Parts: sequence; C-alpha cells; structure tokens
Amino acid sequence: MKSNGKKPRRAAKIRVRGKQNPQVTLIHGDGVGPEVIEAAVSVIGATGVDIDWDRQSAGGNAMRRYGTPMPNALMESLARTRVALKGPLETQVGVGYRSINVHLRKAFDLYANLRPTFSFAGVQTPFRDVDLTVVRENTEDLYSGIEHEVAPGVVESVKVITARASTRIAKFAFDYARKMKRKSLTAIHKANIMKLSDGLFLKCARTVAKHYPEIKYNEQIVDAACMRLVTDPQSFDVLLLENLYGDIVSDLCAGLVGGLGLVPGANYGDKGAIFEAVHGTAPDIAGKNVANPIAAILSGSMLLDYLDHEHEGDRIRSAVGTVLRSGKTLTRDLGGRASTTEITDAIVRALART
Ligand code: ATP
Repeated sequence: MKSNGKKPRRAAKIRVRGKQNPQVTLIHGDGVGPEVIEAAVSVIGATGVDIDWDRQSAGGNAMRRYGTPMPNALMESLARTRVALKGPLETQVGVGYRSINVHLRKAFDLYANLRPTFSFAGVQTPFRDVDLTVVRENTEDLYSGIEHEVAPGVVESVKVITARASTRIAKFAFDYARKMKRKSLTAIHKANIMKLSDGLFLKCARTVAKHYPEIKYNEQIVDAACMRLVTDPQSFDVLLLENLYGDIVSDLCAGLVGGLGLVPGANYGDKGAIFEAVHGTAPDIAGKNVANPIAAILSGSMLLDYLDHEHEGDRIRSAVGTVLRSGKTLTRDLGGRASTTEITDAIVRALART
C-alpha cells in the first residue's frame, strides 16, 4: 500500500533563541550514533545555518576514554549551551551505570519528550496516512530509578507520579496540539489497575483539557490503545503518555511508519532541549555504514526549528520527503541497498534544489 505524499509536518517550535551562530553541544553517542549524527551535521551544514558545534563524549565511549559515562566537560557544555544534538547512548541491561539518557533529562529538567510520527510516500508499510505525535512525560513514573531489595528474592521498583509533572506535561501536549492545529488528544493510561498513580495522571489531564475546548480530549487504556494503533492508527492524533507507556508506544508507532530509522525526537524543558532519534545504539549494524540516518537528520530539523531557523528545518523535511518518494536511494531497513553516506548525500543534493 502507498503512504501519503505530504511533506512531513514540522514539529512545534517551543522556544525561540537567537539566530546568531548558535553554540550547540554535539554528542555522537555509541553504536550507530557517530554515523547518523555526522550525517545530520552535514545536512544541517548544507542548509547554510552556521552552528558552532561543541563536541562532547558521553555514554560507553566516554566510559572507555575517560572512565566515566558522563564527564564534567559534557555537563558544563550542556549547562552553557542548553541545547544539544545527541546520538544514542549505551545503557547496560540489568547491571552497570544508570541510564545517562534518564540522568540528562532529569538534570536539565527536560520533562517533555516529543516524537512526531508520520507516513512517508515511498516507504512500504501496511499502514498509510499515519500522522500522530507521541508526547511522553520524561522525568518520573517507573523511571524514577528508585529500586530496592525488600528481602532476598523480593525487589520493589517505585512508580512516582506527581500532580505537578502530570499537569505540566498535559499543558505541554495541549499547547503543542493548539499550536499545530491538531484536532484531538488521547491520554493513555492503565488507571483501571493503577488507580492512584494513573488516576492522578488522568485527573490532571482532564483539568488541563478544560482550557482547550477546541481540542477533542479522549482517554484510552494502554492495551486497548496498542490494539487500536495497529488496526486504526489514523484515528489517533496527539497521544499523551506517562514515561514507561510513552517509551513502549513510541517504538510501536515507529513500526507503523517504517521503523526506528525514520522517527525523530526531542526532549524539551523550560530552559533547554536535547534532540535525538527514537532509536537506540543498534549494535547489530554499528560501524557498517548501513544505518538509516533519517531519524537523526529529522531530529536535526527539529533543532533548527528550535533555533528559530524554521525555514531551513522545512527544507530538510522536504529534502527527506523527496529522497524517500523517489525510492532510488534507500537504506537496508527500507528495503534498499544504499549506505548511510549515500542516502545522506542524496538528501544534501535534494536540499540544494529546495
Ligand atoms: P539499545 O540497547 O541501544 O536500545 P537496541 O538494538 O536494543 O539498542 P535499537 O537500537 O533501537 O535497540 O534497535 C532495534 C532494532 O532496530 C535493531 O535491529 C536495529 O538494527 C534497528 N535500528 C535501529 N536504529 C536503526 C537505524 N537508524 N537504521 C536502521 N536500523 C535501525
């Protein structure tokens, strides 16, 4: 089936910064990170926007070079620039250091994770005309990192939900919906089981919803929402989720439009933002020049929106749309044979024609 032929929608510009040669922290990250981030840097450079990149290490590669996954220089750079383009970072499963992603989001209070997910013409998937945005709360829930052993063989992970964080993420989601002229917002939950925590999240969302009468507000239980996402994805518009459901549901949504190689993301706070693709380090394909750089490139376009270069952000989205639509230069995940550098070059060439 064909997907739609529209130019990808731009993500909301949440905050405007100066146009003068902005300094941005650049974190290559681990796995496929260096390959896709350099692709994004060259596409951004081809727009003519002159960014002063402050290159910093984090995660596994910083651990190997400096003995810490989060060097002081990285934290100082972020504190100074307050904006970053970042590759995925290694987090060991079950053992080792705590997730640096989670730590950075908390340290800079980047409470809102935005993941615009839309169909591209030229990308073969069983779904067409998907155009939805996941808004995920980024700072609490089961990601609070509070875990302990109660007794041998018994552990607890604490799910923290507060009215403050739930209200501010609901406001962010409704502001986004209003700004982007979206029609409906669905709060996704499991309040039938977690009556207190998810109940509070919903209560806050309902209160905020009253101030946005033009946006249709719905609620859906997370399991039913997952089924509806794969049977009728076009019926969703903006999705509002707590941290854990948001993490899981965004990967599901990426699957609807052609996979993790295509979906960009951004983490916004009141004083800064970090732009990063939804995908992880993809160790299975790292270092082979086969990763799809589009998710990182589109995250770069969201960075340009944020830096008040929306026109250039639009040009990138348009160039990506052109390359995908032509179907001549596609990476392996999209059924093609092009390398990371070949598709990046094709996007740069398409950009020159915008
Ligand atoms: P991590 O532990 O860092 O989350 P992971 O392998 O568990 O890594 P992802 O990195 O998100 O999770 O990858 C999941 C699957 O999607 C892998 O098969 C990977 O190759 C594929 N994938 C992820 N990103 C890309 C990309 N940019 N291009 C092509 N395939 C990708």
